[in-house]
Amino acid sequence: MAKPKVATASLAGCFGCHMSVLDIDERILKLVELVEFNKSPINDIKKFTARCAVGLVEGGCCNEENVRVLQDFRRNCDVLISVGECAIMGGVPAMRNTLPLRECLEEAYLKGPTVHNPAGRIPADADIPLLLDRVYACSEVVRMDYHLPGCPPSADTIWEALVALLTGKPLKLSYELVKYD
Ligand code: SF4
Repeated sequence: MAKPKVATASLAGCFGCHMSVLDIDERILKLVELVEFNKSPINDIKKFTARCAVGLVEGGCCNEENVRVLQDFRRNCDVLISVGECAIMGGVPAMRNTLPLRECLEEAYLKGPTVHNPAGRIPADADIPLLLDRVYACSEVVRMDYHLPGCPPSADTIWEALVALLTGKPLKLSYELVKYD
């Protein structure tokens, strides 16, 4: 029988949530028996080649490319999961949401104490994805089916969620897996 397919993406994140996926240690061998990875930075497959049962999304949307990737995941995945605080609420990148975008760019490229920019230009090449006015949580852009909290969610949390979804069981995570105090 064909294995269910899983895709993963890192949008405006730090790859810490992907590290947590790999942190499931020897269970990664069981995971490979259970699923086949499709589009993902883990295997460097860049385009969907089949419909996926589950899509794991790290990071929120800070630019137009993030939005395109997230919409692509929504189209190609039956179940879409926000993995970690950046995907759920914008996380650290969303700290810029308290300032106008112009001010952020000026601080980063013109006025910051470590900036050396004799040309005094803010990068605006057509190849650079356009920044959005603010950082958006994934659920503000497309419908997300589940949210796994944490920064990052623990390997156990990701493992329990994936196994439940892929074996058709209800996704009921214990308090220990989702508490952060
Ligand atoms: S939730 Fe934490 S670990 Fe995950 S991408 Fe954001 S900052 Fe990195």
